[in-house]
Amino acid sequence: MEFKDLGLTPSLLRNIRNTGYETPTPIQQATIPLVLEGKDVLGCAQTGTGKTAAFALPILQRLKETPPKRNAKVIRSLILSPTRELALQTWDNFQLYGKGEGLDSTVIFGGVGQVGQVEALHRGADIVIACPGRLLDLMGQGLVRLDWVEIFVLDEADRMLDMGFIHDVRKIVRCLPEERQTLLFSATMPPEVEKLALDLLTDPENVKVDPVTSTVEAIDQCLYYVDKANKKHLLAQLLEDPDVESALVFSRTKHGVDRIVRDLKRKGIEAAGIHGDKSQNARQTALNRFRTGECRVLVATDIAARGIDVAGLSHVFNYDMPMEPEAYIHRIGRTGRAGRAGTAVSFCCIDEVKQLNQVEKLIGRRLPEKKSDWPMEITTPTPPKVREPKPAKVDRMGNAMPARHLSPSARTRGSGTSGRPQAPGSPRSAMGRPVRRVNRQKHRS
Ligand code: AMP
Repeated sequence: MEFKDLGLTPSLLRNIRNTGYETPTPIQQATIPLVLEGKDVLGCAQTGTGKTAAFALPILQRLKETPPKRNAKVIRSLILSPTRELALQTWDNFQLYGKGEGLDSTVIFGGVGQVGQVEALHRGADIVIACPGRLLDLMGQGLVRLDWVEIFVLDEADRMLDMGFIHDVRKIVRCLPEERQTLLFSATMPPEVEKLALDLLTDPENVKVDPVTSTVEAIDQCLYYVDKANKKHLLAQLLEDPDVESALVFSRTKHGVDRIVRDLKRKGIEAAGIHGDKSQNARQTALNRFRTGECRVLVATDIAARGIDVAGLSHVFNYDMPMEPEAYIHRIGRTGRAGRAGTAVSFCCIDEVKQLNQVEKLIGRRLPEKKSDWPMEITTPTPPKVREPKPAKVDRMGNAMPARHLSPSARTRGSGTSGRPQAPGSPRSAMGRPVRRVNRQKHRS
């Protein structure tokens, strides 16, 4: 199938050609005709599948073809994005695909001053791409009205849920007109997202592209067993390979991001880091340095990296194994995009073997193991940290005081943390027994 078979106008087809796309991706083939017909769509697809063009192209066409319901410049399409990076990227794409279409778009997100965004809104925007928090803030100040929205897109609904935005999303939806077209995209469909979809969509068409197999097949993946303390040496050595043109390194924690950047700098490797505690400006500067090739290593947490789209990303390093196996797919999806080959390298220390098993179960195969100068030597999992229970508070008479801020169920368990139930299947409890020698079969239950 070609783009011209999807019913898009010649001017949009020209923009697509200029972007360099030759054939539509599966999500584009399935979604574009439905959106052009005015249908509500429930799309199961993640970033990296060409999802943005799947909704942006038909939105641009519909807005251009249907006359606005008001003469004044009003917001005709609203796209909600969970992160600033994804919002900015979506906006970039709208500008690229919509060149010469005569439709204005703007982007709204928190972490920066609102003046520029408010000015852009005053100038008038047909299409607004927004993160929920800042949008609600501006709505509260009476600076944004959504009464004339014709097409509403909720992007990465599962991420919205993870990040605690679901109530904000519902508040925003209440301000939209009843009569509208709605498109909801999500990489996964947990029950809460299904419920949201039922509430928001009217008689939707379901579109699903399988992110797991498509991503996994395109990417060259491998695994190193390496002790935690040696990961920095191994990473520095692997980054010396000239094949690593641009690398995204994933750390589980924000502190980890800073530490990896520091360790690499000590070894003379320029790296930039992004995570949620950095200011929007610092994040944007880091991204720009990476995009322009000024530094070829970007270190990020899962959330900060979400939605990053860097053309020609050659390598992804899982410095830490992800806690959720699905995050592995999201991570490695940053490379090998739109058919380009990429490489994903995972580091696994003894404490992460359980997460590795979960990833392999999800992708349905074992990651091929490679040997390094730093073979795993520590084969006994770190014992779980034992927290001492806090001493009970006593009154002047020496009697125990009631735990005032605890729920009734917590009170019955006592005031210390030692009574806290362990999450079932927690890595530490499962890995609590000593492993005598490094044996691949043994690690992999
Ligand atoms: P997205 O899922 O929208 O973030 O897109 C992922 C990447 O694929 C971006 O770099 C897009 O520019 C690119 N892309 C989108 N559609 C196509 C296409 N039909 N052909 C080639 N690349 C595409």
